[in-house]
Amino acid sequence: MTDTPTQLFIGGAWVDASDGATMPVDDPATGEILCHVADAGPKDAALAEEAAVRAQQEWARTAPRVRSEILRRAYEIIIERTDELAHLMTSEMGKPLAEARGEVAYAAEFFRWFSEEAVRIDGGLATLPDGRNRMLLSRRPVGPCLLITPWNFPLAMGTRKIGPAVAAGCTMVLKPAPQTPLSSLALAAILKEAGLPDGVLNVVTTSRAGEVCEPLLRGGRIRKLSFTGSTAVGQLLLAQSAHAVVRTSMELGGNAPFVVFEDADLDKAVDGAMVAKMRNMGEACTAANRFFVHRSVAEEFGRRLAERMGALVVGPGTRDGVDVGPLIDRTGRAKVEELVADAVERGAQVLVGGRTPEGPGCFYPPTVLADVDPASRLMGTEIFGPVAAILTFDDEDEVIRRANDTPWGLVGYVFTEGLDRALRVSERLEVGMVGLNTGLVSNPAAPFGGVKQSGLGREGGRVGIDEFLEYQYLAVPVS
Ligand code: NAP
Repeated sequence: MTDTPTQLFIGGAWVDASDGATMPVDDPATGEILCHVADAGPKDAALAEEAAVRAQQEWARTAPRVRSEILRRAYEIIIERTDELAHLMTSEMGKPLAEARGEVAYAAEFFRWFSEEAVRIDGGLATLPDGRNRMLLSRRPVGPCLLITPWNFPLAMGTRKIGPAVAAGCTMVLKPAPQTPLSSLALAAILKEAGLPDGVLNVVTTSRAGEVCEPLLRGGRIRKLSFTGSTAVGQLLLAQSAHAVVRTSMELGGNAPFVVFEDADLDKAVDGAMVAKMRNMGEACTAANRFFVHRSVAEEFGRRLAERMGALVVGPGTRDGVDVGPLIDRTGRAKVEELVADAVERGAQVLVGGRTPEGPGCFYPPTVLADVDPASRLMGTEIFGPVAAILTFDDEDEVIRRANDTPWGLVGYVFTEGLDRALRVSERLEVGMVGLNTGLVSNPAAPFGGVKQSGLGREGGRVGIDEFLEYQYLAVPVS
């Protein structure tokens, strides 16, 4: 912890907030304060914006190979420091070390992927249909970007945005979530070490997100917002972005259906459920939120899932053998408790878990609820905790209608051994991603994102860099 930066990163320098303010970072496993980091105000945000704007023109002119190699070097440094970064993430966020190591690898992979994409930005030359004019097309970086990230994947949500922005030639102001600023500050230090020029990435940690970000969005110098977080905050930021017509990418909330048909392989379905539900303690936008299980296999599926969930070891993420760490904070846990209480009041059966343990830390046990009333609040809210809610269905049309009956559309999971059904159901689900007989869809090489109120645009994959590029068209007469 002693080497981890705790100041703001502006113009390549580590600086205190201009008024000297700091904010605490808590360990969710103990409730104790780990350290204090700089707490930026609007003046600091303006300095960070200025640094990004000043660096933009020159950065846009760097050779793609130079940008590519900086990302590649940063990828290597992250991998070399896997253990150190994993410990840092676990201490501020709570996830077990094994998961934190997995996230470090996942986060680093975005840098490797976009180091490869940086040198493949293409353009075009064509003769227009009239034969008298040519069209010369080039791709330009969109300009200085504001990146806003959540606390649940502190490293990967940063690299998923910084990677393509660096590759495209954009400069940035990054505002991480106040619960997990340390991972982002460590990332900035790594990028500096990898040779990223001053001012290309600036990081402002703050407890005053609205005051810090709104002037940047309205000011007209930030040309792009890339946001990952809740739909409610995304809607607010979209409205603020409208003022200066800022281009936006929105990775918002989900309410994933997990559908198990009567012809599913139940071993695969339970394995998939464990991943889709328990990755990151259920604190993931991709977390399965509503388990729709065919009536004929619901009891068996519930029994097997409860057995697996009940065998998980809950405890501090730094302890050996722990599978499930604490939730992010007391507010997050209180929300999970309320959702479970509401479902139980409406008749849900608790197959396992459901009781908050005594003692310090924000722990909540893996919980399986069966016979959940569709009117329960957790059907229309991201649970963001280790709670699997099982409902039954009788036929395919019915389950598709119910799965789609939500304003969100990030991801869906489908378990069936029938190829026709697998494709038919996937095509009818209103989601950006489908896990077919698998509980994991995230991969840096695939376009991640949702439809409906789950967002706009895609991150990762071949298209991830497009979000940070504009076309410029030159009209050239044929002489
Ligand atoms: P959140 O409350 O929306 O916050 C996300 C980020 O936005 C934080 O840095 C937050 O800072 C900031 N923020 C909040 N209000 C703001 C404002 N007025 N102006 C500027 N920034 C503002 O979400 P969260 O609780 O951290 O994260 C959980 C949510 O993220 C879930 O809904 C989850 O589904 C979603 N998520 C989506 C994806 C995806 O790829 N689709 C991935 C991960 C998470 P403060 O905390 O200081 O307000």
